[in-house]
Amino acid sequence: MMLGEVLAIGDELIHGALLDTNSKYLAGQLEALGVVVQRFTVVSDDPAQLRAAIADCCARADVVVATGGLGPTLDDRTRDVVAELCGGPLQFDAASWQQTQAWLVSRGRPVPDSNRRQAMLPPGASALPNPVGTAPGFAVTIGRARFFAMPGVPREMHVMLRDQVLPAIQAMPGLAPIAQAWLRVLGPSEAALGERIEDFMHAGREPAVGITASGGLLTIRIVARGATRAAAAAACEATAAELRPRLGSWLFAEGTCELPQLVLDRLRRAGRTLAVAESCTGGLIAARLTDIAGASEVLQGGVVAYANEVKQGLLEVPVELLAAHGAVSEAVAAAMAENLRRLAGSDLAVATTGIAGPGGGSADKPVGTVCFAIAGANGTRAWTVRIPDLGRGFIRDRAVFEVWRALLSEP
Ligand code: AMP
Ligand code: MG
Repeated sequence: MMLGEVLAIGDELIHGALLDTNSKYLAGQLEALGVVVQRFTVVSDDPAQLRAAIADCCARADVVVATGGLGPTLDDRTRDVVAELCGGPLQFDAASWQQTQAWLVSRGRPVPDSNRRQAMLPPGASALPNPVGTAPGFAVTIGRARFFAMPGVPREMHVMLRDQVLPAIQAMPGLAPIAQAWLRVLGPSEAALGERIEDFMHAGREPAVGITASGGLLTIRIVARGATRAAAAAACEATAAELRPRLGSWLFAEGTCELPQLVLDRLRRAGRTLAVAESCTGGLIAARLTDIAGASEVLQGGVVAYANEVKQGLLEVPVELLAAHGAVSEAVAAAMAENLRRLAGSDLAVATTGIAGPGGGSADKPVGTVCFAIAGANGTRAWTVRIPDLGRGFIRDRAVFEVWRALLSEP
């Protein structure tokens, strides 16, 4: 078993200015390779903190993948600190300096002398060339670990990881092939799902089974390791096969696909088109669907009908209906969906209208009240959800989730 750790380096990461997205990405890539990622560390550029963090990671893990602190300025200190840990001064690497210069020249940029700093490597380190930036990375052995340092810029890191770091890790001894499967569950609470599959979830089970709740959706992740990739895959599938009957209709998909992708796939397979009439979701549903290539095969279009005038004018919602029930009502949601379905000529139309807050709530329609409708060839279904008032963003995200859930369970 190869133990891995991920180290994110930079003052901006611990002062709340920038989210560490590199660690998430790195961990996913390392896990897929079979590395057992046991810890993330996020640390400032402060030399003492950084030295301790690197030394600790390298004492616990077989492979440590770090990003950040490789820039040309004096506040980027990863190289210097690693050199200290390796017990010698930085050494100039002429090949790296050539590449840095060539990169700057190819971009028509001047070659500041300070960039030379980036071609300095700790003793014993090998350079990891950077074909898309000025900072080379490096690999060096510290303690029990192979330590990889990469630039913090995600775009540069991705290329270096794919082309150099992952192949180098793959060539290391001790990597146990891994297989993963994901069962996606809609319906039960996390606790209810946990009870249903309790006997699979104890620590140390092989293959390991865990539950993640995110945005109202539950994912069961199965991780199997084996002597070969095929053995791992077989063990993983054996557990999945035991779990599926336990889940019954709760199981709605397998794999890591995002919900909008699953919705699009389902509608495409059924040969159905969709239009969306969005009030409180303000275009989020259409935006998530159009993020995906090929959305046009399913999505006809949408209307952001925020003001009553637009609900009346563009979606032909009768003014009497708005007056009698209010804009946030199942009757108005149904009219929005039915009328858009007719106007857009789509097979299905969905509508959202709700109170995202912070203002606008009332005793009978508190903030978080959202009405939905789906209109199709077999009629219209309208319903209301009281989403907890955990902020405008939460309410809108939950409303979008509710639409995915409805479209995935629609007959
Ligand atoms: P550095 O290699 O420390 O000079 O980092 C360069 C830039 O990369 C930073 O200013 C950030 O914009 C970005 N960056 C560094 N670390 C991370 C990280 N862990 N996650 C996302 N972006 C990062
Ligand atoms: Mg930095």
